[in-house]
Amino acid sequence: MDTTAAQTTATGAKTKAKDRKVKGIVEIDIQKCKGCEVCRTACKEDALKLSGTLNIKGYRYIIADNDLCTGCVNCALVCPDAVITVYRTNPKKKHTDITPKNIREEIKSIISSPVYTDLSNMDYI
Ligand code: SF4
Ligand code: SF4
Repeated sequence: MDTTAAQTTATGAKTKAKDRKVKGIVEIDIQKCKGCEVCRTACKEDALKLSGTLNIKGYRYIIADNDLCTGCVNCALVCPDAVITVYRTNPKKKHTDITPKNIREEIKSIISSPVYTDLSNMDYI
């Protein structure tokens, strides 16, 4: 299987990922990308651009600047070939072991995070 995931990290980001509560990491199967740029149009952060080289199909492919990505998932939703995967991370959250003693506090902090707050405000939920 010739699936090559591309991840890029660029300098000069508009808003540094470390300053955000939630950021995204974009993985693109560059060998399946056809360079149609639908995802690029959908990205409000200007985090996607075409490569300077060609994939095995002969297309310039999309590469992502993860420093700009907010993890909104728009690009993955619009890609007609479903070659984008977005992972959301929280760069400020430190690792915590969940124990019987702190499980209540950990669940509370997860439920009150911005991602869950946004979902609860949506009409269809
Ligand atoms: S929408 Fe999908 S196929 Fe089109 S350029 Fe973006 S990643 Fe490639
Ligand atoms: S997840 Fe959102 S911000 Fe990140 S590259 Fe895709 S469209 Fe852009």
